Amino acid sequence: MLFLRDLPAMPLPSGFSRAARVRAKAGSQVQPAAPRAAEARRALLARITEFFLRHDLAVTAPNMASVCGALSGSQPELAAALVRREASGEPIDQRWLDTLVRLDPDGHSHIAALETLSEKLEYTLERFAETARDAQSETHDHRDAIGEQVEALGAPAELTKVIDLSRAMLVRIEEVEAAMARSEAEIDRLRDNLAQARTEADVDHLTRLPNRRAFERRLAAAAVEARVTGAPFTVAFCDVDHFKQVNDRHGHAAGDRVLCALAASFAAMAGEACFTARHGGEEFVLLFEGLGKDAARARLDAIRRALAARVLMNRDTGQPFGKVTFSGGVAEVAEDADTRGALARAEAALYRAKQQGRNRIELG
Ligand code: GH3
Ligand code: MG
Ligand code: MG
Repeated sequence: MLFLRDLPAMPLPSGFSRAARVRAKAGSQVQPAAPRAAEARRALLARITEFFLRHDLAVTAPNMASVCGALSGSQPELAAALVRREASGEPIDQRWLDTLVRLDPDGHSHIAALETLSEKLEYTLERFAETARDAQSETHDHRDAIGEQVEALGAPAELTKVIDLSRAMLVRIEEVEAAMARSEAEIDRLRDNLAQARTEADVDHLTRLPNRRAFERRLAAAAVEARVTGAPFTVAFCDVDHFKQVNDRHGHAAGDRVLCALAASFAAMAGEACFTARHGGEEFVLLFEGLGKDAARARLDAIRRALAARVLMNRDTGQPFGKVTFSGGVAEVAEDADTRGALARAEAALYRAKQQGRNRIELG
């Protein structure tokens, strides 16, 4: 685990270095425990207070948790982020602190990553705009000052002032240009990361079909649109039959390839007007926009028949997987646009299809 005292020779702000020293001392000196602990607590509270006042932060529970975690060293990643921020000279304000505490503890959640990236991008854009505004007002002031000096030109002393002002302006313009270039590079990087994270957050990593999250968003959008247009729309739940046997006989990796092949077939056969997603495991969900339940069922049944007629081969062993079939439940979203209710009916219909022998589509 990384502790604050282990951080490399980055310029530690005053509060941090004392925190590190208190921790280091606690381990190396023999002293009565209770007074030392009380002293350390008092010192920590003083540093926290000073930090809040210095950065003009509101005293809220989340702020308290972050600042305390960072200054005490109990959250090394927060501490390192604060140290880097202070060293960079950028402000530690509420907006930045909010982006920081969203740091996903596992580093795995696409959604958390997405929100963090969006906020960072927004924040960087705001800082960029601020820099541009400051630069504009500064160059404006300089121009006015130079203008006045030019008006007063005549004596060599005035000329020297104009030259000095112009030099100062050039230096400042170069600084601002460098700051803008840095901001632009950062914005490009964040934009790329954001686009990537957005895509990943909506895509199933195995089949590359849209995932359940993407499906639910699309379903909600379809419900809104259907309220306006009055067009019907239908959902379907599909589940591969006896898929466990595929894994048992051919291994999990081969099972993965079968799922990918099925996903590609679903997407290709369902057509443009159908949104196909992997719901999870060996389950797929479909959204037929503009189709009522009978038309959607007919479409899904055609896919079922086509898949059931195919014999998939295991390319590693040359053995056939045999017929890989699926069962489905179809339900139309009623006029009240209750999508949850329709999904539940589709799922119940799927359950009936399984009970009635599989490789069939039932209406819910
Ligand atoms: P049923 O006809 O009743 O649906 O039988 P089934 O064997 O398909 O159903 P069950 O729910 O018992 O098993 C589903 C299997 O799907 C078990 C699980 O290991 C497998 N599975 C789920 N996700 C994946 C995956 O991503 N890859 C592979 N290879 N297998 C998966
Ligand atoms: Mg299943
Ligand atoms: Mg199954």
